[in-house]
Amino acid sequence: MNDTVFTFGGDASHSNARQKDKTVTGGKGANLAEMAAIGLPVPPGFTIATDECVRYLKEGGDFSDELQAAVAKALQHIEKTAEKQFGDAADPLLVSVRSGARVSMPGMMDTVLNLGLNDETVEGLAATSGDPRFAWDSYRRFIQMYSDVVLGLDHGLFEEALEIAKEDKGFYNDTEMECEDWQALVAQYKAIVREELGESFPQDVHRQLWGAIRAVFDSWDSERAKVYRRLNDIPGDWGTAVNVQAMVFGNMGETSATGVAFTRDPATGERAYYGEYLINAQGEDVVAGIRTPQYLTRAAREAAGAKPLSMEEAMPDAYAELVQVFELLERHYRDMQDIEFTVERGKLWMLQTRSGKRTAKAALKLAVDMVGEGLIDEKTAILRVDPMALDQLLHPTLDPEAPRDVLTTGLPASPGAASGRIVLDADTAEQWSQRGEKVILVRVETSPEDIHGMHAAQGILTARGGMTSHAAVVARGMGRPCVSGAPGVSIDLKTRTLRIGERDLAEGDTLTLDGANGQVMAGQVATIEPELAGDFGVLMEWADRHRRMKVRTNAETPADCRMARQFGAEGIGLCRTEHMFFDASRIRAVREMILADDESGRRAALDKLLPEQRADFREIFEVMAGLPCTIRLLDPPLHEFLPHGDAEFEELANATGLGVDHLKRRAGELHEFNPMLGHRGCRLGITYPEIYEMQARAIFEAVCDVAQDSGAAPLPEVMIPLVATKRELELLRGLVDRIAAEVFAEKGCEVDYLVGTMIELPRAALMAGEIAEEARFFSFGTNDLTQTTLGVSRDDSARFLAQYVDRGIFARDPFVSLDIDGVGQLVEIAAERGRATRGDIKLGICGEHGGDPASIAFCEQVGLDYVSASPYRVPIARLAAAQAALR
Ligand code: PEP
Ligand code: MG
Repeated sequence: MNDTVFTFGGDASHSNARQKDKTVTGGKGANLAEMAAIGLPVPPGFTIATDECVRYLKEGGDFSDELQAAVAKALQHIEKTAEKQFGDAADPLLVSVRSGARVSMPGMMDTVLNLGLNDETVEGLAATSGDPRFAWDSYRRFIQMYSDVVLGLDHGLFEEALEIAKEDKGFYNDTEMECEDWQALVAQYKAIVREELGESFPQDVHRQLWGAIRAVFDSWDSERAKVYRRLNDIPGDWGTAVNVQAMVFGNMGETSATGVAFTRDPATGERAYYGEYLINAQGEDVVAGIRTPQYLTRAAREAAGAKPLSMEEAMPDAYAELVQVFELLERHYRDMQDIEFTVERGKLWMLQTRSGKRTAKAALKLAVDMVGEGLIDEKTAILRVDPMALDQLLHPTLDPEAPRDVLTTGLPASPGAASGRIVLDADTAEQWSQRGEKVILVRVETSPEDIHGMHAAQGILTARGGMTSHAAVVARGMGRPCVSGAPGVSIDLKTRTLRIGERDLAEGDTLTLDGANGQVMAGQVATIEPELAGDFGVLMEWADRHRRMKVRTNAETPADCRMARQFGAEGIGLCRTEHMFFDASRIRAVREMILADDESGRRAALDKLLPEQRADFREIFEVMAGLPCTIRLLDPPLHEFLPHGDAEFEELANATGLGVDHLKRRAGELHEFNPMLGHRGCRLGITYPEIYEMQARAIFEAVCDVAQDSGAAPLPEVMIPLVATKRELELLRGLVDRIAAEVFAEKGCEVDYLVGTMIELPRAALMAGEIAEEARFFSFGTNDLTQTTLGVSRDDSARFLAQYVDRGIFARDPFVSLDIDGVGQLVEIAAERGRATRGDIKLGICGEHGGDPASIAFCEQVGLDYVSASPYRVPIARLAAAQAALR
C-alpha cells in the first residue's frame, strides 16, 4: 500500500487516518472506509487519493509506476475478498469506477459501472449468474456508459439504437427486452463504436480500468464541474478521488433492486425515512430519472396514492436491514445521511453515505430536532446551518387563499414558490435572465449540462425524474423551487411550444410553481410573507446568545426598516440619503438645486427639500426608536440626478423658468470623465456646504421632534462619506456640530448624537489614527474600499471578474466576499490605528460584505462592533456572526 491508494471492505485495515480524511480520499471514499470499519456491508474496493488527480491534471501524461503497482495490489484485495478475478472468462470480477471529491458535487463528474465486461467475460457472467439476459443487459449498459464517459461518444447514438430496437419489437419498457435483444443491441453498439472511432471497443479489462480512471480525473475540469464549483465556491485545486469497487447488481431480477434514501426528509426535515428504489435496476436508473422510481416506505406510497409496492412491502427483510443501517449511520455521524444501496438477490449492500443536502427549512428543523434528541449540542446546531441558505426562508411563499389555475401536479422536489416566463433550454434561461426576465426552466429532464440555466431560473419543472433526480438534487442545493416528474408535460423544441395537462402553451408564457406541493399553475399567483417563528426563531435565538457583534441594516425607507427589525436588526448601519432624493416629487427640487447658478439658487431649492427630508427621517426614527441610526450625508456625483432627454429638460425649464439651453449648458459643465473618483462624497459637502447643512438640519429637527413627541429617540450617527484627510472631516464635523447646536437651541431640546466617517479610501485607512481625532466612529465602506484598493471599477468589473475567479486570480468575487489579504489588511490597519487614538471608537462595516458570511468571520477576527446588511441578509448576518464567534 502506498499513501495514495487505500483499500476498504473485507479484511482491509481501516485504521489509516489519511484514509478517513475527506481531503485525501474524498467524501465518498472516506465514508466507504468508515462504513466498512463499523461493520456495514460494503463491497470491497479501493480509493485513489485526490493528490493523484491534482498531479495528473498538472503534469498530464502517463501514470507513475508506483501508482500502477499500488492499483494492481489494491485490485488483488478486491479479487481476494470477492473471490473473483478481474478479466476471468469463467467467473469475472466487475467493478464500478466513480469520482468522489472532498464535497459532493452531484452529477457533475463521471461514473462507469460494470467495468471488466468484454466478449468473453460476458459469457462467464451469464453462466455464473445463471441469467444470460442480465449479463447481456449489463454489457450493453457498460458499452454505452464507457463510450460516453471514456471514449467521448455521444450517448444519444446509443439511446437512439435502443429506442429503435424497442420500437421494432413493439416494446415500451427496457424490462421487456429479452436476452437475444440485448445481444443484438450489443453487436450494434460495438458497430457504432467502430464506426465513430475507427477502432473496436476495448476488450482488455486493464485498459478499460485505466481509461475510466483517466476519465474521472479529466471530469474534474469539465465545463459543468467548473460551473458548479464557481456557484458553490469550491476551489479548483482540490481534485477528485477515484473509487474502484466490486460491482453488486440490482438488476439480477425481481429480488434485486437499487435505491437512494435519506434518513429523514431532506425537503422538510421530518423524521421519516425518505427515498426511492427500483426493482431490477442499476443505480443510474434511479438518479437519471429515466424510469420513475417507487417509494421506499408504505406510508409514503399511500400518501401519494401510488400503486407499485414500496420497498417496505415488496422486500420486507432487506428493508428491515436498511432501517437498522439508517439508525446506525445517524448515531455514528450525528447527522441526516444520504445513502445509496443495492439489493442483490435479497442481500443488502451499502454503496455510499454522506451528510444529506437539505433545504433551509429542513436544515433548521434537523438542527433543532437533533438538539432535542440529544444527538448534537446547541453550538453544533448553530454551526451546522449554512447562513446563506436562510435566504430561501425569508422570501415570500404562495398565498394559500389566492386562486390557482392548476395545470398538473408533479413531485414536490424542492420547496418554494416561483413565477416566471417559460424557457425550454438552459441557454435561453441564461439569456433571458441576463436581460432581467424571471424565467422558469421547463425540461423533459435536466442533466448536469443544464446547471447554468437552472441557476438563472426562478424555478425548474421537469416532465420526468423522481425526488432524487439530478434536477431535484441540484435545485435543492441551489435553493431553487423545483417540481419534477410532472405528468402530462410534453415539449416540442422545434416549435418552442409545450402542453401541460389540457393547456397549450409557448415559450414566454407565465407559469407558477409550488415546490412545496408540486403544483404547476398558469399565470402568476399572489404571494405572502414568510413565517419567522418556529425552528427559525429557535435557532436565531441560540445564535443571538452566542454572537458578540451587533447586526444592523442598510435601509432608507420606513418599510425596509420595519422589515429589518422583524428580521432582528439592532439599528441602521447605513442610510444612503441620496435614495430619498430620487423620489419623483423631489427630483425636480434636486435638479433645480444642482443646476442653479449660485449658492442662493441652491439654497432656495434646498429649502423645498428640507421638509421632505425631515419627514423621511422622522418616520425612520420612529421605527428605529432607541436604536443607533447611521445617516450618511449625500455621496454620489451630482450629475447622477440630471435630467435625461429633451422632455425632462423641457419640463424642468418650464418649472424653473430657466431656458433649456441654459440648463443643458449647466448639465454639460457637470460632466465628469471618471465620476466615481470625481466630485462626490465629502467633496460635495466641502464645495456646497449648504447641501450638508440642509441634511443635518433635517436629521436634528426630526430627532428632536421624535424625542419630544414620544420620548424615545434613536441615536443619530451622522456619517461623512469618502473622507481621505483629517481636515475634510474636521471642517464637516464643525458644520454638523454647528447645525446641531442651532437646532437644539431653536427646539429647546438636546439629544445625543455622534459624528463619524466612512473608511472607503486607502489613504483614510492608513491615516486612521489622525482621522480618529475627529471621528467618534468608523464605518468601513468596503464597496468603495475594494474599488479603490484594487483599482477595479465596481460597476464594470462583472465583465471580467468571472474569468478572474475561474482562473484562480481571485478565490471569489472581491465585491461579494472581502479580499481579506489586501483590502482586509487596510481594514485591520485602520481599526488598530483608530483604536490607538480613540479607545472607544465604534467600528462597523456597511459595504455589501456585511452580509457575506466569510467577510463577517473576518470582521469578528478584527473585533468590529457590528456588521450592517440589507434587510433580507440580517438573519444571515446574525447566524454568521454567531458562527464566527463560536469558531
Ligand atoms: C461602500 O462604499 O462600501 C458603501 C457602503 O457606500 P456605497 O455603496 O453607497 O458607495
Ligand atoms: Mg461608498
